[in-house]
Amino acid sequence: MPATVTLSPDQFAQTLADSGLRNTPQREVIYSILLKKRDHPTADEVYARVKAELPTISLATVYNCLEALVNCNLVRAVNFEREPTRYCPNLHPHAHFHDETAGSTHDIDLPPGLLDQVRAILPPGYDALSIEISFRGRTAPEAATR
Ligand SMILES: [Zn+2]
Repeated sequence: MPATVTLSPDQFAQTLADSGLRNTPQREVIYSILLKKRDHPTADEVYARVKAELPTISLATVYNCLEALVNCNLVRAVNFEREPTRYCPNLHPHAHFHDETAGSTHDIDLPPGLLDQVRAILPPGYDALSIEISFRGRTAPEAATR
């Protein structure tokens, strides 16, 4: 399993507060749903899962909560061309591999120092706030269960 970093409930509430956001039951449930099954669900998939716990929640609220979690860096929005945004709660620096055949997205650990090496290719004066590394392709059946 790739390395992951997660937060305690107190740290979760504090991170929201640091961004000027309140902790709400909806935000908490949506975050826990992202942690429970780390398959990079889309907003629609999160909505389907959250309804089991909060039957009256609307899709708009789900989008709103996901946006709040992304804005305070608790969750990463992952985008692949022509695909709906997916959501990832893994705060450890990592790349994504999108299997175009299966439609699945996998976390890929990065070797230490790789992001510094990538950053070093930038010309002087180019200051990257973030670096995203993503792969698109296919995974062999035995690799996809990792
Ligand atoms: Zn991820």
